[in-house]
Amino acid sequence: MIPYGRQDITQTDVDAVCETLLGDFITQGPKIAEFENVIADTCDVTHAIAVSSATAALHIAYLALDLGPGDLLWTSPNTFVATSNAALYCGASVDFIDIDPDTYVMCLDTLEARLKAAAKTRALPKVVVPVHFAGQSCDMERLGALADTYGFRVVEDASHAIGGSYRGAPVGNCAHSDICVFSFHPVKIVTTAEGGVATTRDPDLATRLTELRSHGITRDPARMLGQSHGPWYYEQISLGYNYRITDLQAALGVSQMSRLADYTAARHARRKVYDQALADLPVKLPHQPNFQHSGLHLYPVLLRDEAPVNREVAFDQLRALGIGVNVLYIPVYLQPYYAKLGFEAGLCPVAEDYYARMLALPMYAKLTEEEQSTVVAAMHRVLG
Ligand SMILES: *Cc1c(COP(=O)(O)O)cnc(C)c1O
Repeated sequence: MIPYGRQDITQTDVDAVCETLLGDFITQGPKIAEFENVIADTCDVTHAIAVSSATAALHIAYLALDLGPGDLLWTSPNTFVATSNAALYCGASVDFIDIDPDTYVMCLDTLEARLKAAAKTRALPKVVVPVHFAGQSCDMERLGALADTYGFRVVEDASHAIGGSYRGAPVGNCAHSDICVFSFHPVKIVTTAEGGVATTRDPDLATRLTELRSHGITRDPARMLGQSHGPWYYEQISLGYNYRITDLQAALGVSQMSRLADYTAARHARRKVYDQALADLPVKLPHQPNFQHSGLHLYPVLLRDEAPVNREVAFDQLRALGIGVNVLYIPVYLQPYYAKLGFEAGLCPVAEDYYARMLALPMYAKLTEEEQSTVVAAMHRVLG
């Protein structure tokens, strides 16, 4: 089976991890700061805080922005459940803004209309979370302007988007957001096995994120509420978590990040092959707005009405031909847990229609020419 995504682990990666494993620190060692510096450099941002997963990064990002009971967070339904679950961890309520029919990220026209209505009923969100689906950046300048007008904070879920850029600047540089979050799960573009990073330009947010990652503890006398008892002294000043990443994972991340530019280029080369080879099929190919350069985590195609089979049949037939196509995402609010919270089908019709038609084709840096030809041939057999 040719999977829809796959990690690339080289001997250099293995050596980097083994060297760290035999060193003095296997957690909270120097590799974490090195990994954070690499991310900060790549993203052209001042602060990067590495944690155990993107889910953890989202959770502490929301906490750092004081999201709590009585507050509202809005996000896209076309995301992994973690984006909104992390708001529920904070005791906040969530709602979903429908997606754009061409880019599959949060539709900012819909967002603006919802904000106008919410301003009248004083039900504005405290935090809005755009999800850079498939690696494609949301229009952050416009979103940032809406944030200024309506007074909400912005956390970018860029789990799919490392290596991408928006108006020439790297995703993660937080020019139009408070915090940006990346995932380093193996199916994503770069991996640390499990891992996440939050980036920010705000030094106070960086301090809070760092404390929340490790139990809410500080060793900085300026942050302490009481008097130091001596050199061993630390204080817990908020309720944090153990969301630390290990030095082993960070060593893998540093090694992987050295290949990021190659990965992005390889993904775009494969995108161009698909774009040409699938152009005559009854599918909608991924649109790339020119204000951004996608990280291209995914290559989503949507079956048009005139396709000879529906998505369920196409999925089964492609899987039978050895193509590990996937379907993502099930609109979050359709999950039974969210139904229990009162969400109903019909909330976001564009996301629901997208979900009914969507197939993610194999897309990863080391997808070979031969494998890609197999995918293309199978697509023609099933949909031609
Ligand atoms: C993968 C993913 C997450 C969660 O990432 P983890 O590192 O597995 O916690 C969150 N949001 C999106 C959009 C993702 O794709």
